[in-house]
Amino acid sequence: MLEIEGLGHTYDDGHRAVDGVDLSVDRGELVSLVGPSGCGKSTLLRCVAGLVRPTEGTVTVGGEPVSDVPAGLAVVFQDYTRSLFPWLTVRDNVALPLRRRGLARAERRAAAEAALEEVGLSAAARKYPWQLSGGMQQRAAIARALAYEPALLLMDEPFGSVDAQTREDLEDLLLRVRAGTGTTVLVVTHDIDESVYVGDRVVVLTGSPGRVHADLRVDLPSPRDQIGTRESPEFVSLRAEVGRAVRRA
Ligand code: ADP
Repeated sequence: MLEIEGLGHTYDDGHRAVDGVDLSVDRGELVSLVGPSGCGKSTLLRCVAGLVRPTEGTVTVGGEPVSDVPAGLAVVFQDYTRSLFPWLTVRDNVALPLRRRGLARAERRAAAEAALEEVGLSAAARKYPWQLSGGMQQRAAIARALAYEPALLLMDEPFGSVDAQTREDLEDLLLRVRAGTGTTVLVVTHDIDESVYVGDRVVVLTGSPGRVHADLRVDLPSPRDQIGTRESPEFVSLRAEVGRAVRRA
């Protein structure tokens, strides 16, 4: 589904953000990307999303070289405060991209309301983004991405601004949606436990410029469970392995 080969990027000011990254992600796979702050994770996601043209290497999505924003792509950006249109209600924000799916107005609204219910935001559907807390805005942005049922979903620290309980609920929601739709997911997180809990693989990047340091398979049974999975010896040992790789990187 996603093929990254020899990807390097140097910004106009000469800053080298990503260097020689090779990464291949199968259809329906969920890959967690971890690495120190500033190692180029967001740059990598922007190159995959067609928002930044890499200075070296290639990205293909579904066999097509990325030169523009690929079809069937959804992105949940880290900066949730700038992700939603302030002049649209939360429901209309979630419904807007569904126009590209060719859905009728009533279907768009129904899909938006279902997605908002999934993230626990039904009561806020008619509010405007600026009337919500940061965590609620981020959940609305997640609902918008999920409602679209993308073929490829890119998430940049999507659960960073929500409380611990909501974070666990959203991790499980992501896993359910992925199981139900077969969406391919690349998620950046700084949380090692989360990278293992949601991932089929955890890719560890080195410090700036980002290179792939380790690519670890997560062979934990599905469906995962916030208590049972996290206390299993396999989870504990994988978490330690990722932690060691991050330190070495
Ligand atoms: P991460 O997501 O891992 O924190 P980023 O991809 O945001 O890393 O940034 C990687 C490096 O590239 C950082 O040092 C950052 O300051 C730099 N950077 C990011 N965007 C730009 C830009 N538009 N111009 C110049 N440097 C940038």
